[in-house]
Amino acid sequence: MVLPNISYDVSYRNIKYPRLEFKTGKLLFILPIGYEPNFFLEKHRKWIAQKSEFIRKCLKASSGRKLVKRTDKQFRNLVYSFVNKTSEEIDVELNRVFYKRMKTKWASLSPKRNLTVNTLLRHLPNKLIEYVIFHEIAHIIEKKHNNKFWKIIIKKFKNYQRLEQDLFIYWFQVAKKL
Ligand SMILES: [Zn+2]
Repeated sequence: MVLPNISYDVSYRNIKYPRLEFKTGKLLFILPIGYEPNFFLEKHRKWIAQKSEFIRKCLKASSGRKLVKRTDKQFRNLVYSFVNKTSEEIDVELNRVFYKRMKTKWASLSPKRNLTVNTLLRHLPNKLIEYVIFHEIAHIIEKKHNNKFWKIIIKKFKNYQRLEQDLFIYWFQVAKKL
């Protein structure tokens, strides 16, 4: 597979293994100090090409997505209602909910069962907010993204792959606010 004009940035960090990031839609190679970018590109050519194609599609789709208008209060009420609903549905209890503007994730769960919600989630449709919250709370039962985890998810969100992709698409829209 050829890579038609793949442009990328390189960032060297004190890490062991090379990795890729697509935060803003542009490829970023994060490489161990002294690592040759061309070597990385050659070694993972096919995978990088597939990833780039996926990003290109998402970027294209993102311009057609409308962001939702709701106030901060409406957003927090919505989050709490989904937190309560989900806790009941999968029978686990969350400790506290925090809000923070984050640059790399929609939400995260701490070992102390505290949920941190990205405030940028405020602009997304209800269904995606519900999915993000359900996903994080399900991590109380299973930390890893393994079969056991996806089984919990699929019981409620049969189309979770589609939702994951939608989250990606919306990220490009919302990232403009960063
Ligand atoms: Zn997860």
